[in-house]
Amino acid sequence: MEFDDQERLRADSGVNDNDRSKHMPPEYADIEEFIATMVGAFGGYIRKVRPPDTRGKYRLEIAGNYRYCENIKKQHKKNQVYFLVDPIKKIYYQRCYDPDCQGFQSAKKPIYTSQTVNNQQENNSISKYNLYY
Ligand SMILES: [Zn+2]
Repeated sequence: MEFDDQERLRADSGVNDNDRSKHMPPEYADIEEFIATMVGAFGGYIRKVRPPDTRGKYRLEIAGNYRYCENIKKQHKKNQVYFLVDPIKKIYYQRCYDPDCQGFQSAKKPIYTSQTVNNQQENNSISKYNLYY
């Protein structure tokens, strides 16, 4: 287990475990919608949104029938997957709760939202911002 994950587990057992963390902040509603739509097509839904980690990534826990894992290239029978979402870079990747997939991380994939188009038009300010990441 990565040190990162141990840190997170400790934090998860604490006060953050409540309904307030069910959604991403309103400014990222379109990003949450993107993930919700993707998993919703397979009968899944976002069970919980974890507060951002030190790198600003949100963890979206998936429940329902969406258990597709890129590590095994198919659905898990029981164990569930989650997505790590970077709302600044607009990318996400999938990780997994199955013990066999410990440490696995899928390839990073782009998040497409209606705002993505606008951001590309404002390329100058965006690339300046990206220097910090
Ligand atoms: Zn897996």
